[in-house]
Amino acid sequence: MKEALEPAKKRTRGLGAVTKIDTSRSKGPLLSSLSQPQGPTAAQKGPKKTGPRGCTAVGSVLKNQKLAPTAPAQKPVRKRPGKRPDWDLKGQLCDLTEELKCYREKTQKLDQENQGLQEQLKEAQEQAAALGTERNTLEGELASVRTQAEQCQQKLEALCARVLELEEWLGTKENLIQELQKEQLELQEERKALATRLEEQERRLQASEAALLSNESEVVCLRQKTAAQVTLLAEQGDRLHGLEMERRRLHNQLQELKGNIRVFCRVRPVLAGEPTPSPGFLLFPHGPAGPSDPPTRLSLSRSDDRRSTLTRAPAPTTRHDFSFDRVFPPGSKQEEVFEEISMLVQSALDGYPVCIFAYGQTGSGKTFTMEGRPGGDPQLEGLIPRAMRHLFSVAQEMSGQGWTYSFVASYVEIYNETVRDLLATGTRKGQGECEIRRARPGSEELTVTNARYVPVSCEREVEALLHLAHQNRAVARTAQNERSSRSHSVFQLQISGEHAARGLQCVAPLNLVDLAGSERLDPGLTLGPGERDRLRETQSINSSLSTLGLVIMALSNKESHVPYRNSKLTYLLQNSLGGSAKMLMFVNISPLEENVSESLNSLRFASKVNQCVIGTAQANKK
Ligand code: ADP
Ligand code: MG
Repeated sequence: MKEALEPAKKRTRGLGAVTKIDTSRSKGPLLSSLSQPQGPTAAQKGPKKTGPRGCTAVGSVLKNQKLAPTAPAQKPVRKRPGKRPDWDLKGQLCDLTEELKCYREKTQKLDQENQGLQEQLKEAQEQAAALGTERNTLEGELASVRTQAEQCQQKLEALCARVLELEEWLGTKENLIQELQKEQLELQEERKALATRLEEQERRLQASEAALLSNESEVVCLRQKTAAQVTLLAEQGDRLHGLEMERRRLHNQLQELKGNIRVFCRVRPVLAGEPTPSPGFLLFPHGPAGPSDPPTRLSLSRSDDRRSTLTRAPAPTTRHDFSFDRVFPPGSKQEEVFEEISMLVQSALDGYPVCIFAYGQTGSGKTFTMEGRPGGDPQLEGLIPRAMRHLFSVAQEMSGQGWTYSFVASYVEIYNETVRDLLATGTRKGQGECEIRRARPGSEELTVTNARYVPVSCEREVEALLHLAHQNRAVARTAQNERSSRSHSVFQLQISGEHAARGLQCVAPLNLVDLAGSERLDPGLTLGPGERDRLRETQSINSSLSTLGLVIMALSNKESHVPYRNSKLTYLLQNSLGGSAKMLMFVNISPLEENVSESLNSLRFASKVNQCVIGTAQANKK
């Protein structure tokens, strides 16, 4: 039975579905088939082998069937000898006996047959019982096979699901593989490109290495040359320094030859609305070299009205001739004026104290000369902004030679012998009195207490300071009429130069002084309370201006006592006058005939100063 089921099982597996096992065989009408001998059964015909028990049972049935006689119906019945006549009772009896005999035989045979059949039935029943048992066993087996099949089915289903899952996974993996393959292709392409680039770079590198090698030898060569040039440079630096020192010496000599005290006369032009002076009132005779020679002389003709009224003759004129280091007629430009003094600015950078004054009556052009006209016209810029620009640019040039310069500016006003800071801002304005004091005990250097000393490094900073000073003065002007004309303004710039490599230092002040108006008070004026103040102011101004003259004289005459302390102005400028200092005085003259007396006074004062010679200057070198 097991063997018979095996192929079925195998088939089930092969088909992928469980085929129902045909169990009808055991249900068939075994008895009827056995009772009707119809030849061999399907089980006997088929090649299939049945179990050993089934085979024995069926075999024995068949054997019995063969052994069993055929049915009497099928056996030919002895033909009756026709119908006996009713009368033939003997014949009929004979026939009936015959027939009975036949029937008896037949019954006997049937009994035998019945017996045989009974046996067969018994056998068949036994067989049926055996087959029932077998069937039960088979059904049990079938049930277990079904369970197995169901389990297998479940497993199969699980496996199918897994297969599907795996197929899906496989699909994703395949996609991934495709993508990776694509990526791989791209990377391969990239790799190729990179390899090409690498080759190119390697080629370049080789070329660069070759160039480097040749450059290195060139560098060695250049280093040698540089070393030689450094030596040469050092030598030339030394030479340059020597030359710079020589230049300074010669420059100073030149300035000394020109005079340590120089006086320039500047005549301002006639302004709009002013009367034109009579021709010949002011003359500017040429120098010996003709018109190309810069004028150094000035003639002023004054008509003596007093004498003419006495004699009633045409008023005689007296000519006053003056000679200065330079005379600037009315048309002279600010630029020309500055050109003449730029040499002094250089002297200040070289370490010589420099003092530039503007002297003259009010309205003669002192402020115009020193500061210029406010309004930003560069043509009209005065000496202070021009000097500053020159200083900064020369200092910049000299930095190439190893010099470092620093500048500190201050701007004060001396009015009625009191000092006021023109750079005061905010709360410092008018706070605390400014006094001139020694910077440190035992030091020669002077400083103004409560005044601002502002480090400057460019023109714009100086411009801002000048603007501030202008504003501070304007405030004062409202308080006291025209105070600016009645006070001295002193712009001081402390210049410090250092040549660190050679351990050289030079310090010098550059002073630009716009002096108070030099005019005297009209003696005919009646003295009201305002005039009294004016008189005091004038006396103070005259005293300080004459002190300036006396100081210059004393220095010129090499007197043992120089009256610096007689005025605040000379005291403040003490270190910039005399000795190693260079001084330049502008005498500003009005071109108007009405100002002739003041012009003469100014020119006389300036001439006296011009005659002074102050000893050989020494640079303030440390
Ligand atoms: P001060 O300072 O001596 O009192 P200012 O410098 O104020 O005199 O000059 C008086 C007037 O004359 C100002 O209006 C000024 O602009 C003008 N001025 C002075 N000098 C010149 C000059 N060289 N060229 C043109 N204008 C001048
Ligand atoms: Mg002025």
